[in-house]
Amino acid sequence: MKLQTIISVPEFYLEIFADPVLRGSIGFILGAVTGSFLNVCASRIPNGVSIIHPASRCPNCNDGIAWKNNIPIVSWLFLKGQSKCCDYKIPFRYFVLESLSAISFAFFFVSFGTIYDYHYLLASLIFIPILMVVIVIDLETMTIPDRFSIGGAMVGLILSFLMPVLHGFSTEPLFIERVSALLASILGMLISSSILYWIGAIAERLMRREALGQGDVKLLGFVGAFCGWQGGLFVIFGGAIVGTVLLIPVMIFSKLTSRKEDLDQGNTVGWGMEVPFGPFLGIASILYFLGFREFVDDWFETSFADFIIFFSGI
Ligand SMILES: [Zn+2]
Repeated sequence: MKLQTIISVPEFYLEIFADPVLRGSIGFILGAVTGSFLNVCASRIPNGVSIIHPASRCPNCNDGIAWKNNIPIVSWLFLKGQSKCCDYKIPFRYFVLESLSAISFAFFFVSFGTIYDYHYLLASLIFIPILMVVIVIDLETMTIPDRFSIGGAMVGLILSFLMPVLHGFSTEPLFIERVSALLASILGMLISSSILYWIGAIAERLMRREALGQGDVKLLGFVGAFCGWQGGLFVIFGGAIVGTVLLIPVMIFSKLTSRKEDLDQGNTVGWGMEVPFGPFLGIASILYFLGFREFVDDWFETSFADFIIFFSGI
């Protein structure tokens, strides 16, 4: 059964993929190039500019960028973060996104790179880059474009049908397993976004101000379509925890370092300030996909079993 899948794959591909170092290096380069593209998406999509045309240009003087000044990660370091044409300060975000993308791709290629779990590799290479660009756009503009949340959810539904292993079914699925996986994906999408919607609605009542954006609710639909309702639930609470852990030190630090005038004008990160929730949901989703998945799904499975045993005992 497995042999058939192996035979259909070219020999050289198998040889390259047998070596984790080579595999990781390919992942790293592919991730760096993807990161560079994600930077273009994050800069252009919120402004309604095409991501394909024109080719890379300096955002300051509009000059074309030579290929040697456009190499992911390397060029930013080599140019010390300044453009060749007009000494424009290239945002640090370009370097961070390219590096993180390269590192995560390398990680996926090393851990899911064998021919047996290429499904996870494919899904990761779609799921994680979308989250990365959503995190950047939400941080910079406080919005999450529908093409990533709604569009991403649709991709999640299709992938679930094509690769039911994403929802815990076998790698050689029967048709009924494909349908079940699609159903798990639809339920994941609906349940995850509904729960977040209601948490937001109740929080809004209690705090008397907008607590969550529509974008976050749709983003959770995308996460649920890929990760099922268990993953969606983990991401909601994980996102809140990540947010708390990351924000509290920032708040304390900014309180300690800001001058009195700044505090009076509210120019500091503090309680009640508008902070996008999307990036924290995004980080929690990445954590789930990177390894929390097994732990979370097992926990839900045993808790459910306990729950049923408890009630059937009454
Ligand atoms: Zn320039």
